[in-house]
Amino acid sequence: MTERDLGLDDVAAGLDRLGLNRDSVVFLHASLRSFGRVEGGAGTVITALRRVCGTVMMFGSCSELSGIPAPPGLVRPNNSYFHADSWADFDAAVRAATPPSAKLPIDSWLGAVAAEFARQPDVVRGDHPLHSFQAVGARAEELMAAQRPDRMLGPVEELERLGGDVLLLGVGHYSNTTIHLAEQRLGRSLFYRYAVLEPGLWVEVPNVSGESHRFDGIEPALAPATIETMIGNCRARRIPARAVLAAATELIMGDPAALLCPEDDCRCGGARRQRLAVLAG
Ligand SMILES: [Zn+2]
Repeated sequence: MTERDLGLDDVAAGLDRLGLNRDSVVFLHASLRSFGRVEGGAGTVITALRRVCGTVMMFGSCSELSGIPAPPGLVRPNNSYFHADSWADFDAAVRAATPPSAKLPIDSWLGAVAAEFARQPDVVRGDHPLHSFQAVGARAEELMAAQRPDRMLGPVEELERLGGDVLLLGVGHYSNTTIHLAEQRLGRSLFYRYAVLEPGLWVEVPNVSGESHRFDGIEPALAPATIETMIGNCRARRIPARAVLAAATELIMGDPAALLCPEDDCRCGGARRQRLAVLAG
């Protein structure tokens, strides 16, 4: 256990040990609690990231506010989603939802670091009604311009093009969104979801990622490409996005069910069936 609270210099020194610098473009997934006690909390972690790295990107979903069930009767194959029981229920869900905007708070499951990042005035968000990304720094505009309502993972494609890194601070690969891009390129985990765009106006959104609770299975394949250090109690890992994509691609090419659980009614089942349909096609 850490004897004293971690400070800004401790967090920044840890990021330095990972070899990050002002040219770095990082896609961060973080657990504040993993560090132990941090003086200044999430704001300190973000200040350290912004000091060391040139560009920082995070996930910034607002789906808890903007998301709605699928309308009754709209059943797409292998979509692993829930439907409103009636049009009355669906219309009530549409009325209760909040249209997306760059001002909305992000989903609670993203954690304290992403929430604090979303409150910073110069952070920009991508254009997606459910699962926007958010970024700040030299390449932030390029990353966010790559996201569209039909291209949720556009910023990850841009991260790959820029030679950026995935940065896991105290979380596992179950948080590693970049793996979803490899899945989707192979026809897997391409889900349709539903959101309000404006009051009373709803849309169907394609290419939404699926389940990730078995993604830690990628860890052995990524060991050679991973740089790792401890920052307080936080296991901090840096992996090139291109290495993540290459390893995930190889695993899924070898096994349509790679990095998925065997449950048919989990979204894993939908993703596996989508891949099998591509192979049969
Ligand atoms: Zn599953």
